[in-house]
Amino acid sequence: MSDALLALQRGRPSADFDAKVAHSIAVLQEAARQYSPLTQASSLGAEDMVVTDLIQRSGIDSAVFVLDTGKLHEETVALIGRLQAHYGREVEVYRPDAATAEAFVAANGEDAMYKSIALRKQCCDIRKMVPLEAALAGKRAWITGLRREQSQARAEVHDIEAPASDKPDARAKANPLAAWTWGDVWHYITTNGVPYNPLHDQFFPSIGCAPCTRAVTLGEDFRSGRWWWENESAKECGLHVAEGHDGAPSGTSQDDPTSADVSPDVSPLNFFPTRSSSPQKETAA
Ligand code: SF4
Repeated sequence: MSDALLALQRGRPSADFDAKVAHSIAVLQEAARQYSPLTQASSLGAEDMVVTDLIQRSGIDSAVFVLDTGKLHEETVALIGRLQAHYGREVEVYRPDAATAEAFVAANGEDAMYKSIALRKQCCDIRKMVPLEAALAGKRAWITGLRREQSQARAEVHDIEAPASDKPDARAKANPLAAWTWGDVWHYITTNGVPYNPLHDQFFPSIGCAPCTRAVTLGEDFRSGRWWWENESAKECGLHVAEGHDGAPSGTSQDDPTSADVSPDVSPLNFFPTRSSSPQKETAA
């Protein structure tokens, strides 16, 4: 992709970009103060690479983990090593139970996810949800790269979401980029030299497993490249709907304009926003 097209795809930062960065660091520090131990769930997408960088800058003590589903693009897997080398830090890698994943494929085929929503969600359960539970074991909170402008389903994301009071085992969730735009994300990456997945340069705004992700075209929204054969309402793998939250922000001000003001997407390409078994863990150093 040409530099000009890349610039168009990425958009411009918000006028209050610096304030947003400062606020995100404050959100992380507040989440660590209230909910340690905590951990970052990184998909290795652009937002999550920014969050890892902000964790480093904030000085908080947080683990970082990746769910290697066995179905990731090679560019995504390679980014694990690049991230570790860039920051000189440990990244925990969780994988699905091999026997369970193999049995599912033997029974339903490698292309099971296209056959029905039920089979697609079963694949996500085996390859993501069960390993996620292992990754979150013993943690009081997890940190995500969710942004409100990503989809209608994420329009109510708060900076810090307290665990649901009626679910004693639930965890808090910190979303330090809740108010960021796509332009903010890319401005941060380019000005801070943050490593990122080269698939983003090939019109992949949101990157998941290879069979379930494709490039988008002009005019399509942010998550249209994920599970594109399904209705919009089904497009979550379960990671961010697994645990209930009370919804109210915890420890941060709702009056803060950087958390309450959601900017519309400024990308001229307008891809985006429209509000419209036992898992196996490997710790790589
Ligand atoms: S995103 Fe696709 S390949 Fe990945 S776990 Fe879900 S259904 Fe399986």
